[in-house]
Amino acid sequence: MEKGKGKVYLVGAGPGDPRLITVRGQECIRACDVVVYDRLASPRLLKFLKPGAEKVYVGKLPDRHTMKQEEINQLLVDLALQGKTVTRLKGGDPTVFGRVGEEAELLYDNGIEFEIVPGITSAIAVPAYAGIPVTHRDLASSLSIITGHESPDKLDRSIHWDKVTNATGTLIFLMGVAKIGYIADQLIRHGKPPETPVALVRWGTRVEQRTIIGTLQTIEGIVAEANFKPPAVIVVGEVVRQREKLNWYERKPLFATRVMVTRARAQSSDLSDRIEELGGEPCEFPVIETREPANPAVVGAIETALRNADRYDWLIFTSVNGVEYFFGYLKKLGIDIRAFHKARIAAVGPKTAEALERRGLLIDVLPVIFQAEGLLDSLSESMKPGQCALLPRGDLAREVLPRQLEARGLQAVEIDVYETIIAEDQEEETLKLLVDGKVDVITFASSSTVTNLLAVMRRMGIEEPQQVLNGIEIACIGPLTAKTAVEAGLTVTIQPEDATIDALIDAIATARLTSRGITAKEAPEE
Ligand code: SAH
Repeated sequence: MEKGKGKVYLVGAGPGDPRLITVRGQECIRACDVVVYDRLASPRLLKFLKPGAEKVYVGKLPDRHTMKQEEINQLLVDLALQGKTVTRLKGGDPTVFGRVGEEAELLYDNGIEFEIVPGITSAIAVPAYAGIPVTHRDLASSLSIITGHESPDKLDRSIHWDKVTNATGTLIFLMGVAKIGYIADQLIRHGKPPETPVALVRWGTRVEQRTIIGTLQTIEGIVAEANFKPPAVIVVGEVVRQREKLNWYERKPLFATRVMVTRARAQSSDLSDRIEELGGEPCEFPVIETREPANPAVVGAIETALRNADRYDWLIFTSVNGVEYFFGYLKKLGIDIRAFHKARIAAVGPKTAEALERRGLLIDVLPVIFQAEGLLDSLSESMKPGQCALLPRGDLAREVLPRQLEARGLQAVEIDVYETIIAEDQEEETLKLLVDGKVDVITFASSSTVTNLLAVMRRMGIEEPQQVLNGIEIACIGPLTAKTAVEAGLTVTIQPEDATIDALIDAIATARLTSRGITAKEAPEE
């Protein structure tokens, strides 16, 4: 290989769910300078790109045709000749109707190094996500993966209908939705029983997954009636019946549910993981980011407060961020937590308490109601006038707690150990999902996320963000957040009894199951 030339990774992106890419595939995305992708590869995989990496979309767009295969082949060569490391992301596996042969051949002809990274093909994974195993000890001992893309006469030349019909196995057609009638007719004509079960699974493994079931005889009508569009995998064979018992994915509580998470990026992963576990798709709109205060006066106040550690009778934490930044400053200033030996520790909310416990600090007071007001009630017995309390918090924290402590004769020292900023890196794509009505539930885990999301939407040109949001289920973690939402003109539809993330998720799951209970009856497909 010549020096100065780049390298191309031809990578299978898996069937859609971004977690179904291989470890090697993910490494290739992280390492590349430019990614070339199309619509079958999940855009959610692009978050693994290193900062500044270039994205080239070569798929279909409403206003232009797909880039021709020859142009894509040439593009890969050109990018590599510029010395770039290129990752060509292809849906499923690159060697299964992925035209990787043509791409790799031109790279070879141009002396460019390449690797093929296999992926999980939709032909197998998509049926599995619809509860259909492609082979079965008793029902199917072979598997054919067939293209349904060609025109009927070409199909007739490339498919040996008599042979596939008489194979004792499952037939999988890719790219065949438009030809479903023709495919079913040919199979019946060559001897497959008309009552052979057929499934079509659209956008499998993704939040958009939909499945319809019929027989060779009925499926064309069912597809037309449901207005069922590609991309879909077609499964023909007895294995389809397994779905009655094995349909594990579509039964999950958050199946087909896109949940928008509005928290700081560093904190949202917990919530996002839970959503994925329950079968939903999290989409993160990190409206808040936090950082250390920039103002020297604020920094000076933090330093003074922390250097007087032995003054305090109470250390009161109201957020996980407050804990994290507080310890950040202790480390920076070389202060040991034991300097606060006199202080008892209180936390608002179990997550805050957990963050402290992780650092070896057990909580003296944890309120029953997870709000500042609850803390005051729980504290009142042990608090004495004349005591001094340190409150490390964010700059947007509410004033209730310090004012009430003062009203009870305590001295409250507030330090803003972090500031809140509205995320700048703009989430155009996420916003588009919102505006296009593709978000099913939106979660607010604090009042400031409500205010900030509305502010970000206005700044991005949406004059009446309430109108957009009110078409969506709105889930608020607790009464204060809900109050802020209502005051901002939003209709809160989901609110758990306990103000915790776990309870919030449970409430969303319950609401979704209930609403699907109603729609399931109306859905024509099953
Ligand atoms: N290389 C790909 C297939 C490319 S051909 C793979 O291994 O999966 C494109 C066809 O794949 C589509 O027309 C559709 O039939 C199928 N397909 C790909 N991803 C799909 C998905 N998530 N859901 C349903 N069908 C899918």
